[in-house]
Order: sequence, then structure tokens, then C-alpha cells
Amino acid sequence: MPISSYKPNPCLLEKQIILITGAGDGIGRNVAKTYASFGATVLLMGRTVSKLEKVYDEIISENHPEPAIIPLDLGNLEMVTLTELSDNITANYGRLDSLLHNAGVIGQKTPVEYSDTEEWERVMQINFSGAVLLTRSLLPLLQRSSSASLVFTSSAVGRTPRAYWGAYCVSKYAIEGFALLLADELENTSTIRVNIVNPGATRTKMRATAYPNEDPLTLKTPEELMNLYLYLVDPNNKENGQTFNG
Ligand code: NAP
Repeated sequence: MPISSYKPNPCLLEKQIILITGAGDGIGRNVAKTYASFGATVLLMGRTVSKLEKVYDEIISENHPEPAIIPLDLGNLEMVTLTELSDNITANYGRLDSLLHNAGVIGQKTPVEYSDTEEWERVMQINFSGAVLLTRSLLPLLQRSSSASLVFTSSAVGRTPRAYWGAYCVSKYAIEGFALLLADELENTSTIRVNIVNPGATRTKMRATAYPNEDPLTLKTPEELMNLYLYLVDPNNKENGQTFNG
């Protein structure tokens, strides 16, 4: 079914527990508010607590289910933090219905030969390794859902390389590989479906950093992607191992 004709029920996500990384800004912020408006309890994960608090307040002011704030820097993850996180979610919610890996950083745009190795590792850690570790620790909670959705965010440069996009490009290739591996691994052993979303050029801070000379008004807004992001976590959607483009 084309996403344009998808009409989500206003109660679509009632009683669903959904964790969104990078929920304080850009696409993630819009997704968190949209999921909450369709009834989900959203777990707002991100690095800047003040931004997460703002999203929390906006959700509460619209009388949607109370969200949770989970401060976490994906660039600086420790196993003990991940264990505490999964213990806390288990204690408070008992399961996880969806996990949207959305957080990301653009890093340096420079020829590989001149790239800064520390910056390269930071981008790989946030965009790839952090998402892998988080997935590993939350898989048991997703297994407890009757219809779980795991979504990874890629980019056009995760499928076609673009010169000078360095670690960002490589991290998106890597996350696509990981998503497809998991989709295959979980296909016959669980009800978890694993998909990839490529939002495409969208009016956010990341896009403005990547293309400083572009007029943001020529780009689609995060709001325009929300039907697609709802479809990705729709419990009736059974698609697995697919890529969805915004
Ligand atoms: P954005 O506006 O820059 O938002 C990125 C989010 O990730 C922010 O909430 C940020 O938190 C969070 N984040 C960054 N580093 C983090 C860390 N170390 N730990 C935890 N959270 C961290 O970007 P966006 O445009 O919405 O992008 C969202 C996703 O879409 C990314 O994966 C991006 O690669 C992908 N994408 C975007 C576009 C586009 O045109 N916008 C195109 C293709 C793909 P802080 O604000 O606290 O730093």
C-alpha cells in the first residue's frame, strides 16, 4: 500500500511503549510527539536533557500519555548503563513495542585522507556501534511484545557512496547491514520486524549543517514524514527487512 493512502487510526498506538533515540530535536522530536498523539507512551532518549524536557512538556500539555526521559549519550555508552536502562524499562513497563534508532551526527565532510580519526570513531560510535549495543540490550524487551518493530535510520549515502561524506556514509552502510542481518535472524524466531527508514532531505539542523547554502524552505518538513513513521510502528504492519524512503 502506498504510504500516501495510509490512514492511521487515531488510537493506533494506544498502550504501545516506544523508545525513540534523538527525541529532543529534528525528526525524532516530531516522531515522539506524533506517536504520543496516537496514544503511545514514548520513552524520550537523547543527549541534551533540556530538549527532552521541552518535548515532555509539550506532550503533557496536550494530555497525551506521560512520556519518560532517558538521558543517554550514544557516543559514550557503558555496559552498566545499558543494563540499568533495560532493568528500568522492565520494572516500569515490562516490555518494549518499538525501538526507533533515529539519533545521528553528520561529522566531518572531508577526504578520507585528511579525516580526523577521533571524529571518525565518534560518528561510527553514535550512528552505528551505539545503536548496535542499544539493540542488543533491548532485544529481550522487544521479544516480550506481541508485535514489535525495530527501525533503523539510514540515508541515501548508506546505499550510494558520496565523496567526502566519510564516517557518516560508512556508518549508514553499516547500520543498513546490521538491520538486514537482524531482519534475517529474527524472521523465523520472533515476531520482531526490522526495517530501515531513509527520511530523505528534510528541514532539520543536521541538513542545514550538511548543506549550509541550501534554502531550507525548499525542503520537506519533519511533519510531512509522520505518516511513514506511523506506518513503521503500526502493529498491523508485518513487513520485515524493507527500506522505506521519505
Ligand atoms: P538532528 O535535527 O540533528 O537531530 C539529531 C538528534 O540526534 C538530536 O536529537 C541529537 O540530540 C541526537 N543525537 C546526536 N548525537 C547524539 C548522541 N551522542 N547521543 C544521543 N543522541 C544524539 O537530525 P535529523 O535531521 O532529525 O536526523 C535524524 C536522523 O535522520 C539521523 O539519523 C540522520 O542521519 C537521518 N537523516 C536525516 C536527513 C535530513 O535531511 N535531515 C536525511 C537522511 C537521513 P542533541 O540535539 O541533544 O545533540
